[in-house]
Amino acid sequence: MSTISTDISARLRELPSVDALLQQLGERYPQVPHALRRDIARQAIADARQQLLSGTAPAAQPLPSSRPSSLPSSLPLTLAEQELQSLLGPSLRPVINATGVVLHTNLGRAPLGDLPLLPGYTNLEYDLAAGHRGKRDAHLAPLLRALLQAPAIAVNNNAAAVYLVLHELAAGGEVLISRGELIEIGDGFRIPEIMKRAGVTLVEVGTTNRTRLEDYEAAITPQTRLILRVHPSNFHLSGFTGRPTLADLVGLGRSRGIPVYEDVGSGCLVDLRPFGIHEPLVQDSLRAGAAVVSFSGDKLLGGCQAGLICGDAALVQRIRRNMMYRAFRLDKLVTQALEHCLRALLLEQYDQLPALRMLRTPVATLQARAEALLAQLPSPLKARLLPGQSLAGGGSTPDQALPTVLLVLAGLDPTAAERQLRLGQPPVLARIQDGELLLDLRTVLPAEEPALLAALQGLVST
Ligand SMILES: *Cc1c(COP(=O)(O)O)cnc(C)c1O
Repeated sequence: MSTISTDISARLRELPSVDALLQQLGERYPQVPHALRRDIARQAIADARQQLLSGTAPAAQPLPSSRPSSLPSSLPLTLAEQELQSLLGPSLRPVINATGVVLHTNLGRAPLGDLPLLPGYTNLEYDLAAGHRGKRDAHLAPLLRALLQAPAIAVNNNAAAVYLVLHELAAGGEVLISRGELIEIGDGFRIPEIMKRAGVTLVEVGTTNRTRLEDYEAAITPQTRLILRVHPSNFHLSGFTGRPTLADLVGLGRSRGIPVYEDVGSGCLVDLRPFGIHEPLVQDSLRAGAAVVSFSGDKLLGGCQAGLICGDAALVQRIRRNMMYRAFRLDKLVTQALEHCLRALLLEQYDQLPALRMLRTPVATLQARAEALLAQLPSPLKARLLPGQSLAGGGSTPDQALPTVLLVLAGLDPTAAERQLRLGQPPVLARIQDGELLLDLRTVLPAEEPALLAALQGLVST
């Protein structure tokens, strides 16, 4: 066994007692209950000892002397404060997204607008007119029907929707899917895996790049329950590729009595083609005859995390009655947020939904906002405007880009500046491209611009 260095043994001897550390914490965090402070003090001393013994402790460093303290600062105090700060939060914080990626998966996909969330009791499952128990579906069903011209239900997210549809309509049977659509959505959510968990047998048809209608036809057996089509949302095949149209698949399915289910992923209900976004419309899938369609609530729908399932009335009813539906049903908070989103879509008040407002912002507006910001920048900051591209992001086809105007910050270390902005209050997330720091105002709310300007001023004042 190697001997412990004299420096380490001195630091081990100087470790405070639990009581001493508890007293320091009490002075600094009087709002924290005593029992919690004690647990944290004990753990911090144990962790500090462990770090010193294993040689992973940072070099001894005094805390700022302005802190009131009856004892010298110590590694346990630092560890205890880190733990307390993570507990006292807030952990989930508003972030200024200057990346230009509208549906940024790491930033919560579609940003929420002003939501008048109801405190207290609500009529979530109570039919006020009838005076007895109601269904929570009742709040969204009329809006979904009016928007989609088809019955629909909502669950926690589209992953849950995929599971539920497969489980209800095909468990114990076979599901046909093109090889080119066996995708991973992200975070390990893979179509083949989810099919297995839903109790269905995957039958791959065609090849990775080309699948023909005859491939599906040849794979049909008496056990075939469903034809699954998945929108390959997060990657793009090019070159010698092809797959049948949805209408052709539906025709085949009808002739053999097999429903077609399409997972469209992004859930676009509004035609964004005039703005440069070419994503399949849910309404088009229904019109083409898909028996069931599912999509996300927080992608191009512009709402909150949810999964929507729509289509044939009898099939949607069956899925609604699946025992697992209850495990995936919406909470009252989400129900409110989704109701707000669906009503805005129905009334074509797209500007109420920040993601849709951002996607629809004309480049001239972004140019004017960027020029105004540029004019206010402190003179030591060297910046210029550059035409560039914003991305739809988050489960829409990866090459869905929109023209934008980028604010390019030059003459500073981009990595250091990106870090300073990211660690600021509020955090600002920017893009680094070709060694330059880029800001895209498409994803910055106008109300956030003063805070963004202050963050940029901070880059030169320090
Ligand atoms: C995003 C996506 C999903 C998963 O949706 P969540 O709402 O994130 O659960 C499933 N299928 C496709 C095709 C997707 O694009």
